[in-house]
Amino acid sequence: MAAHMMLLERFPSYRANLMRLEEATDRRRARVTDIKKAKRVTIKTVVNVVYKDDDQNISMPQIRSQISALNRDFAATNPDRSLTPAPWTGLITDSRVRFKLVKVTRTKTAKTAFSHDDSVKSAAGGGIEPFKPASHLNIWVCALSGGLLGYAQFPGGPLATDGVVANYRAFGTKGTAQAPFNKGRTTTHEVGHYLNLRHIWGDTPDCSGSDIVADTPNCAGPNFGIPTWPVITCNNGPNGDMFVNYMDYTDDAGMVMFTAQQVLRMRAALETLRSGLI
Ligand SMILES: [Zn+2]
Repeated sequence: MAAHMMLLERFPSYRANLMRLEEATDRRRARVTDIKKAKRVTIKTVVNVVYKDDDQNISMPQIRSQISALNRDFAATNPDRSLTPAPWTGLITDSRVRFKLVKVTRTKTAKTAFSHDDSVKSAAGGGIEPFKPASHLNIWVCALSGGLLGYAQFPGGPLATDGVVANYRAFGTKGTAQAPFNKGRTTTHEVGHYLNLRHIWGDTPDCSGSDIVADTPNCAGPNFGIPTWPVITCNNGPNGDMFVNYMDYTDDAGMVMFTAQQVLRMRAALETLRSGLI
């Protein structure tokens, strides 16, 4: 969110684009369509590995394990969706968005770790610029400092920094991926942001914030670890916070679903600001 706020300050057009996307999303919501019958789309995906130490130069099987995890999660075929509490199982939705790995770049860097300042996205910063970001999802995998698992740029921002960044310790399901962030969910969460999803608690430290999604209950703040259901905040009983949602902050083993209205938001982004991807 810090990176997001900084971009909003630096690029007025980013703010304007996001406001227009919100209006388009409203129109999309008003249209009577069955989101479950939306056209299946495949996003060409580029993984940019930026490494200082050899172990950070992650293997092809690890990269492929992340693409597989993305495809399971966005198709709602992840077996652990069975962890979803009964009142919400009907909301689990296949986004009909898929990912195809088309390119891997590998860049040696002198930097020990990167932060959310986007330096990994340029040669001058010690990283590498994105490959055709208007038509490709770029994912940078690198060491991140300060316990940061990853971050993303919302739709409508500058192309030079467009994409998702993931910590090499929280990418894929094998190799350097470390529990409890070894089921690929950091990247699932960040691609959610990249397709215009917000955190389910609305990024305020109280009950006033909203993720602008009607079928995720209003809740107070992020959940961590793997909570026991239900967690009641903001008068959202009896079912409480939807902490099994990919857009919370739980451990990888605890987040298992997108809702129908979240899928609608992502589809609205793909039909407008991110139409170059499809
Ligand atoms: Zn997030």
